[in-house]
Amino acid sequence: MGEEICEVCGYRSQLGGVEKRPIFPREIIEQAGITRWQVISICSNCQAELNKWYALKVAAMAYDAGMQRFSYKTSGQMVEEYQAAFDSFTGYKKRRSQENRPG
Ligand SMILES: [Zn+2]
Repeated sequence: MGEEICEVCGYRSQLGGVEKRPIFPREIIEQAGITRWQVISICSNCQAELNKWYALKVAAMAYDAGMQRFSYKTSGQMVEEYQAAFDSFTGYKKRRSQENRPG
């Protein structure tokens, strides 16, 4: 078993703490019928943070001002939002690691 590196935080593990996972939650892949998705090596800490990030950033419902009611987003909209949330998560983690660097 080789060394795996978390692509988000740079954590290295030879003990299986870093896994290759799709960036989208499993249920979104299934609901949206996505056949191609990005896969990253991610550690369990970053995966837990990413799950929380998605819970904060992506909502299944949207307020439709025209209809004056909440409605479910389409799976296409959901995929776009998860992609945008993933990009903002990696951007956030990059900024954090730069702030923590001495000097
Ligand atoms: Zn990580």
